[in-house]
Amino acid sequence: MRLLFLGPPGSGKGTQCQLLSNELKIRHLSSGDLLRASVAQGTAAGLEAKTYMDKGLLVPDPVLIAMFKDNLSQENCHNGYILDGFPRNLSQAKSFDDMLSNLHQFLDCVINLEIDSEPLTLRITGRRVCANKNCLKVYHTKFNPPQVENVCDDCKCELIIRSDDKEDLVKVRLATYFEQTQPLIEYYQLKKILVNIDASQSSQNVFNSILTTLKELTKTH
Ligand code: AMP
Repeated sequence: MRLLFLGPPGSGKGTQCQLLSNELKIRHLSSGDLLRASVAQGTAAGLEAKTYMDKGLLVPDPVLIAMFKDNLSQENCHNGYILDGFPRNLSQAKSFDDMLSNLHQFLDCVINLEIDSEPLTLRITGRRVCANKNCLKVYHTKFNPPQVENVCDDCKCELIIRSDDKEDLVKVRLATYFEQTQPLIEYYQLKKILVNIDASQSSQNVFNSILTTLKELTKTH
């Protein structure tokens, strides 16, 4: 199954994609996580990306397109994947369409996590992420706290605040989303593969709604 998630920063994309990746046993490809890994490795692409990420702006399209072309052709994506954070503007969506047709693949579903913009800042500034690059589990100080403060339930590593989860950058990231990524909702609506999910519910209820949607989808396919 090939899935794509849309939704503003703080809508819970990362959490839902991690849950779904475990449930369906397919790869979760998060553009933000891939970029942060390149930054940590100090690659040329990572260093270029960092200057944009530090400002809450989108990294130039060629960096993302090369990154996803490479990942999607890898064997661990052959039985499906969940895309989180890519594509993020219309030009990336068109390049992604080309990648799909070159690989003779199609997207099964685009899941759009719908939520009012009001609670997003609180959701993002309370976010904590496992520092272990092989885990990267996402928590929230209020809505999804770890059992022990600042310690990952799964791998027991330290939890950190992402450098771009500070309030001033969050405003820019939200504006970037509404200006550049939101038009993708209509783009995929026109392709008749978009499903809206109410992301204001609890994380477990959002997950259940997604699973119900995907079950319906496999019945009709
Ligand atoms: P995220 O973890 O999805 O919130 O992404 C963190 C940052 O990585 C964003 O604020 C952007 O600077 C950059 N980024 C992630 N995905 C993309 C993308 N598809 N296109 C351009 N920049 C991206």
